[in-house]
Amino acid sequence: MSEMNEGNTEFDLFIADLNGNLRGKRIPASGLDTVMAQGVKLPQSVIGFDNWGDDVLTNGLVFETGDTDGVCMPVYDEPTSVPWAESPRDQVLAMMFNMDGTPFYPDPRQILVRIVDRYKALGLTPVVATELEFYLLDGESEFKRRPEEPIINDGNGRRLSETDCYSIDEMDGLEGFFTEVREACEAQGIPADTIVSELGPGQFEINMQHTNDAVLSADHAILFKRLVKGVARRHDLGSTFMAKPYANKSGSGMHVHFSLLDETGKNVFDNGDEDGSLLLHQAVAGLLDHMPESMLVFAPHMNSYRRFQNGAHAPTFASWGYENRTVAVRIPESECEARRIEHRVAGADANPYLVLAAILGAALHGIEAKMSPPEPIIGDAYAVYERYEALPNRWELATEAFKDSAFMCEYLGDTFVRVFSAVKEQEQEKIYGRISDVEYEAYL
Ligand code: GLU
Ligand code: MG
Ligand code: MG
Repeated sequence: MSEMNEGNTEFDLFIADLNGNLRGKRIPASGLDTVMAQGVKLPQSVIGFDNWGDDVLTNGLVFETGDTDGVCMPVYDEPTSVPWAESPRDQVLAMMFNMDGTPFYPDPRQILVRIVDRYKALGLTPVVATELEFYLLDGESEFKRRPEEPIINDGNGRRLSETDCYSIDEMDGLEGFFTEVREACEAQGIPADTIVSELGPGQFEINMQHTNDAVLSADHAILFKRLVKGVARRHDLGSTFMAKPYANKSGSGMHVHFSLLDETGKNVFDNGDEDGSLLLHQAVAGLLDHMPESMLVFAPHMNSYRRFQNGAHAPTFASWGYENRTVAVRIPESECEARRIEHRVAGADANPYLVLAAILGAALHGIEAKMSPPEPIIGDAYAVYERYEALPNRWELATEAFKDSAFMCEYLGDTFVRVFSAVKEQEQEKIYGRISDVEYEAYL
């Protein structure tokens, strides 16, 4: 029997949809035991809502059954507390199954579980950590007015600016917020590690500690985003994980660090050599090879593509290098045993389950096909780009590359490719169907 956290009278049960939005139901505490045992039914179409909530699956893509239910089963034994909620509440993360008990494969969490199982079959365990960047703004109302520059003050009424990068003062000014973020992370078992003030005014990065369960690490990232938004609201702050909220300020990324352990717990990326093992090189080669067709997963929205600019610490080419922040795949300086890959492509707006599935899938293919990478880049990758494959720099180009991807079909599944393409095309139609302010400025 599971127990509610003390004093809490209701709980939210949810799954993450393809765009990383949480969808589910709010349920009274009396329903907990039944839900933990039997799950909650939701229409399967919720997985394929676009960002306007329009449902793509019932457009005849996955089923012609009239939007049948799926069963969302809790993934952990106990609910966790939602300390920032105004009225006491718990939350239960779930994933979706078909009514016959088989996994519902457009569910991003199911897709990641399946990739990790492929590693397990080879006796390998991915060790994964994410780093999430986001912006805070003064007040929800400020946020809705969409200023061209972030507006945020420290506790003394001083407006923050780019000079506050790595500033301790900036964090002091927002101490109440950060203390509560840490406490909420502890209450939910989310292993928040270091916090830094990033380049953008009011932009921060919080790193998660690594775990040797990639699915758990993705759970941490998705739950962390909900937590930041909730705690920020309580402090009358706005918050966003949008990839590029301000045209002239730093974008927000989601870097992924990973290594692989064999059955004895040894890191197979380490062979005692500074450069790392053959397996590390094969994994890097797979990552670079499949990067263009995976771009839609790393940069799922129109806005995501604005982040990739020369000099922006976000990559524009499928490149790699040692201790180099201008490349897409960086091998950080470390003790040999901690030899790992930092994948720097995904935006903070991407779905963590799908990002990890695409990364781990590409690395696995690199290993299985014994691929070899090009020479690593030394120095500024933005300056030597001719030698490397360009990444799709527009949403539509990324969608085309994704739709034609045999790798995606093979590793993330053809159902996923079909449904995700449909969600993105529907989103594109909506956006291109609107006339933007700048068009009126220039052409009216
Ligand atoms: N904000 C950068 C990005 O858009 C990353 C900066 C960093 O190296 O942490 O990905
Ligand atoms: Mg950063
Ligand atoms: Mg990083």
